[in-house]
Amino acid sequence: IPDSTPADVDAAVGRAKSVFSSWESVAASARSVILVRAAGIVRARADTLAALLSAEQGKPIREARDEVQGAAHVFEYYASVCGSIPGDARRLPKYGYLNVVRKPMGICGAVIPWNMPVIIFAWKAGGALACGNCVLVKPSCTAPLTVDAIAKIFEEAGLPPHVLQVVHGRGSTAGDAVVRHPDIRHVSFTGSMETGRSIAQTAAPYLKKLVLELGGNDAFIVTETADLKSAVANAVRNRFYNCGQVCTSPKRILVHESLADTFVKMAAEKIAALKVGCGADGADVGPLNNPDQAEIVENAVSDIVGSAKGTLVCGGTRTAGNFYLPTLMKDVEPSAVSKELFGPVMPVIPFSAIEEAVKIANATPYGLGGSVWTADLKTARRVAEELDAGIVWVNKHLILPPELPFGGVGGSGYGRENGREFYQEYTYEKSILMG
Ligand code: NAP
Ligand code: MG
Repeated sequence: IPDSTPADVDAAVGRAKSVFSSWESVAASARSVILVRAAGIVRARADTLAALLSAEQGKPIREARDEVQGAAHVFEYYASVCGSIPGDARRLPKYGYLNVVRKPMGICGAVIPWNMPVIIFAWKAGGALACGNCVLVKPSCTAPLTVDAIAKIFEEAGLPPHVLQVVHGRGSTAGDAVVRHPDIRHVSFTGSMETGRSIAQTAAPYLKKLVLELGGNDAFIVTETADLKSAVANAVRNRFYNCGQVCTSPKRILVHESLADTFVKMAAEKIAALKVGCGADGADVGPLNNPDQAEIVENAVSDIVGSAKGTLVCGGTRTAGNFYLPTLMKDVEPSAVSKELFGPVMPVIPFSAIEEAVKIANATPYGLGGSVWTADLKTARRVAEELDAGIVWVNKHLILPPELPFGGVGGSGYGRENGREFYQEYTYEKSILMG
């Protein structure tokens, strides 16, 4: 892949500028047709795209297929909402007529990580294109190919040239150039908190509009009245999905002390049945995406176990390359996992009262998601109310239809993707007063 320079980014911005005004004048219905056609081609090529995604990213082929089909679904969602960007019209006695219209931001930058590159690309490009923007996408160096292939599909689907461009390259050069370019008015970034902070600093002098999706440390709270079988199955499925590399993965499993031993036993049985291997070979859990990430996970688990802040039940071994065995730890001290564990590791933290669980859940810098597992309506409402997070699930986790506004608070960043409000990020309001 090209190692793009700031000059390459500047040239791409120049091309986008040359087509922006004709693209923003395209009827919403025509934008909708392009999005639907692109979704159709993605679906028709899902097997090839999924194989490419699995090969470059490491994820199991089944999950790669879900992600590719999920991206098509997101494009279809945006096709359905293209024409419903709201405005306002009012008669103002004495002054005249007021029209409040929404205009596209112009040229948007999208900086994408390696964990779920295709779905995150769909969220960002779908929203931006639906509103009539041009988009420059900077995918991650370690998962750039499927994003590139889907961007090319958009031209086949009838998107005019240069409206959607991919600039490959390193974050420190190509990514940085996107954040600094004065003609890019909006940047949406998904990735680590540290990089998000640095992007906010870099973007400040340019007064850019930003969306920052900076990961999470979701609590998964299993109360006394939970359906234990369902809670265990969901915890294991969701925690080890994508080898644990998902922003809203349940990263801390809080279990009522009366159920903790049984939960751990049941989870250990399910984890033992997970097949670890290459994505293409029908594995349940693939490798971590890159060696740096494998090392981060390996060190984090050794630190917790080595300092007796948690007891290893299974896993805890890096077998070969980026493969790290699905790991379960019990009796974990909450402070040992206050940092996001981005890998196949399930820490179980026992608690005695629901207020303690909520306190633990909220005691991290993050605020992305969280879930409560309960049969009691009062507990469900209370926890939903008190979790300091952008998304709360009740008896579910990691279910993210495009109708749901996605994003966090605090250290998880700001701004929302998807939902009915998607246009708020990708447009600005223009008030026109006619005398
Ligand atoms: P990262 O540094 O945040 O990278 C995400 C994207 O930003 C990549 O495309 C990266 O380019 C680019 N980038 C890096 N520095 C940049 C800069 N200064 N300006 C503009 N763009 C820049 O994430 P990472 O290093 O891959 O992973 C580190 C940690 O981030 C993980 O351990 C995990 O905790 C967290 N993470 C979270 C999520 C999430 O969805 N919440 C996703 C991925 C990672 P490159 O191609 O050079 O990397
Ligand atoms: Mg990085």
